[in-house]
Amino acid sequence: LGETATLRVDNLHAGYGASEVLAGASFEVRTGSVVALIGANGAGKTTAMRVLSGILKPTKGKVLLDGKEVQHLDASKIARLGLAHSPEGRKIFAPLSVEDNLLLGAYTRLPKIFGFAMKANSDLERIYKLFPRLKERRRQAAGTLSGGEQQMLAIGRALMANPKIILLDEPSMGLAPVIVQEVFATIKKLKETGITLLLVEQFAKSALEVADYAYVLEHGRIAVEGTPEELAKNERVIAAYLG
Ligand code: ATP
Repeated sequence: LGETATLRVDNLHAGYGASEVLAGASFEVRTGSVVALIGANGAGKTTAMRVLSGILKPTKGKVLLDGKEVQHLDASKIARLGLAHSPEGRKIFAPLSVEDNLLLGAYTRLPKIFGFAMKANSDLERIYKLFPRLKERRRQAAGTLSGGEQQMLAIGRALMANPKIILLDEPSMGLAPVIVQEVFATIKKLKETGITLLLVEQFAKSALEVADYAYVLEHGRIAVEGTPEELAKNERVIAAYLG
């Protein structure tokens, strides 16, 4: 079929102490596609993101980034291999300016100081083109941005690393419905640039509007998968997530 997967997750098990949260989850994100991972509170979505980014080690299973096993590597190494994680709650640095927050996103290239500085400038311009509002506010402390703007900053910061894939964890969290729409409009714009994205969302409806393919996580396993059109016709998905 010739389709390549930037990220492939195979039979993943992980948890905290004796409690197993992921119990054999398998899914993939094909290159250039937007994939949604949806599921109820506590289904294990955030735990899956932690394992993918290397913060939490799985007890079993594989994570393949561009075909290479990474589940045993440190978070910093996985980041350098091209996986950028925009965490739940955004985690921007409130006292720093918008621009400094963006520059921090390029930290994976820090070893080459001069190359880094020159490249970072062109990356900044690219991000500002996507998010004109961040450009207008680039000297402002990030903590003074609105919730939606902070989410855009978190996405922009992830893009600064020029990643192969972005993990976007609950971009709608804590935002008013109208702002959620704005954030999803941004994700649509990003999608047009050909980005590879794994989107974790409780707002299944918004996630299915931007995704090429989706997985439903229940009790630590993939219970249902398909295109958004397929999921929108699935009685179980409608009852639990779209109703
Ligand atoms: P939400 O949308 O509410 O964040 P989620 O699908 O992302 O849900 P997780 O955050 O992955 O769910 O949590 C899955 C389960 O693991 C929950 O029962 C949670 O209480 C538990 N859990 C999460 N973090 C820890 C931790 N550090 N120690 C112990 N248990 C944890």
